[in-house]
Amino acid sequence: MNSSILPTYRRSNLSFVKGKGSYLITKNGKKYLDFASGIAVNSLGHCNSELIKVLNNQSKKMWHISNAFQIPEQEELAKKLTTLTFADKVFFCNSGAESVESAIKIARAYHQIQKRKNKFKIITIKGSFHGRTLAAISASGQKKMVDGFKPLLDGFIQVEFGDHELIEKKIDNQTAAIMIEPILGEGGIKVVPNECLEGLRKLCDKKKILLIFDEVQTGVGRTGKLFSYQWSKIKPDILSTAKGIGGGFPIGACLLTNKISKGMKFGSHGSTFGGNPLACSVAKRVLEIISNKKFLNDVNQRATFFINKLEEIKYIYNNLIEEVRGKGFLLGIKCKINNSIFIEKLRNNGLLVIGASENVIRILPPLNVSKKDLKIALKIIEKTCIDINGKR
Ligand SMILES: *Cc1c(COP(=O)(O)O)cnc(C)c1O
Repeated sequence: MNSSILPTYRRSNLSFVKGKGSYLITKNGKKYLDFASGIAVNSLGHCNSELIKVLNNQSKKMWHISNAFQIPEQEELAKKLTTLTFADKVFFCNSGAESVESAIKIARAYHQIQKRKNKFKIITIKGSFHGRTLAAISASGQKKMVDGFKPLLDGFIQVEFGDHELIEKKIDNQTAAIMIEPILGEGGIKVVPNECLEGLRKLCDKKKILLIFDEVQTGVGRTGKLFSYQWSKIKPDILSTAKGIGGGFPIGACLLTNKISKGMKFGSHGSTFGGNPLACSVAKRVLEIISNKKFLNDVNQRATFFINKLEEIKYIYNNLIEEVRGKGFLLGIKCKINNSIFIEKLRNNGLLVIGASENVIRILPPLNVSKKDLKIALKIIEKTCIDINGKR
């Protein structure tokens, strides 16, 4: 096809005309079970009736006014986020990369306002993903993302996943922060154990540097807690979130404590669209639904059921599947065959999932997926394993 779109994405030929709950429907009426959820974005499924209501109502009142004026919807969403988390302050933007970008600027400003101008370096994890702006690719440092775009931003040091000693060694008097995804999403659903998060907190306190969690993918109920850090005993200083928080409406946010906010004042950062009334109204409803204890308990119950069944499938088809990993509905199947081939065959059988690094299949159902649809997905996964083995 002679497309006018810059070819930066590898797209499947599939095209959909409608989404409903956990399903996507093509022009010909073929239904697909969508366990990609727009990459962990459609947290409450497609065209959720509650969200449609809020979006419609707000669309008749006001869409956008800019941050030159009071925005009550933004105020309410910020209040909700701070009530539910470690944070005292929130900065709103429109995407994950921007929320990471904000986190980096806030960390640098915190030190610089205190006359520690030489503290600007941020330690990150090899194989992590923080988005596609220059700062975000500089932070990740992954070859496939940085090649062609150098020079990168100064001051990011990547350390191998799990190498605790090296992290400590890399900290010097120029270090401002450590930034980490509690579960590496794009990097292959690699869970950072709670003890390690707790160890990082201790280390940051000892060295007087900041701890930043990139929860763009792990946040807003995805792992079975509102934010993934809430599985541990510790709190970050700064947290970036986006993807699932708008349930499909673009919005990002950077959360921080009062103490860390010192460096930021009038004019130090901004975003034209950030925190607009439409996005904030929808996100507030998403948060109300997902932060409900009963809702999250239910996510954990269904996720546990699903994970146990995936483990059973792995046990039977251990020639195809090496490992099931992840938490809640942020799950990965590490494959023994090429993950892209596996994903294509699942798609042919009616299940949409996406890839991740390390030959992993990412499974990200909507958080309100029914047990019935989970069972259908399991059937498709099993059938696909049988198909693949049959052809050998
Ligand atoms: C997706 C993602 C981002 C980037 O989000 P965009 O909205 O694509 O800019 C950043 N960090 C993590 C952990 C992500 O998963």
